Amino acid sequence: MNFDLLIDLHKGGHRQGPGDDAQTLMAMSLAGLSDVHPPLAIADIGCGTGAASLTLAEHLSATITAVDLFPEFLQILEQRAQSRPLKGQIKTLAGSMDQLPFEENSLDVIWSEGAIYNIGFEKGISYFKQFLKPGGILALSEITWLTQQRPAELNDHWVQEYPEIATAAEKIQILEDQGFIIKGYFPLPETCWLDNYYRPLQNRFDDFLRRNSEADAQAIIDAEQAEIALYERYRSFYSYGFYIAQKA
Ligand code: SAH
Repeated sequence: MNFDLLIDLHKGGHRQGPGDDAQTLMAMSLAGLSDVHPPLAIADIGCGTGAASLTLAEHLSATITAVDLFPEFLQILEQRAQSRPLKGQIKTLAGSMDQLPFEENSLDVIWSEGAIYNIGFEKGISYFKQFLKPGGILALSEITWLTQQRPAELNDHWVQEYPEIATAAEKIQILEDQGFIIKGYFPLPETCWLDNYYRPLQNRFDDFLRRNSEADAQAIIDAEQAEIALYERYRSFYSYGFYIAQKA
């Protein structure tokens, strides 16, 4: 995988996956998070250029540690944080989500939108849990089947791309098996995919190809276009699900 090209394509986006500020706020509300003192200790895992971190910091007194593998995304997040008034403080941390430097039982909230798939949902939850205080909140978005039945073409594509894709009932079962209390679930609406993620991404394709003329760049665009076409065709069968859970 050519990470430099992927970073170049995605760093210009407000977000690097489907989502919406309103959905982040809905998850905050289901989690029962409000602007309390002392400040909350929050980690945003796989933060990208910071869509969720910024929304959390706008609304909460908090120290938010924004973690991503790629420093290029974190630099943009830092610039964005400086250019708007925030209640919370954002610190960035470059590193992998399977090697986090937090202390056991130290975080009030672990947030992660569209990123846990990088290490897998089940593995990620069992690893993240130790860092949460008892009663702490885990809020995740993750690709989810919306129905029990679906076309074979779609099923084959996603099972190949991400074998852990499953229905909300199955995802919730995993959270409960790991000792979490479910506080909420909702699927992201289509605007989160099309208006907020895929259309802005498509609008960057031409500039991206002008900057990067190698065959790898065209291959990345072809793969993105195929994923978008699949979504446009089969969007009633899958979305991201937002899962809000509390450590018992
Ligand atoms: N939460 C952001 C970004 C989602 S895209 C948003 O909703 O817009 C997934 C993010 O996970 C990318 O920014 C990618 O760089 C990051 N990522 C991928 N593998 C990672 C890893 N092993 N550890 C930490 N971050 C990772």
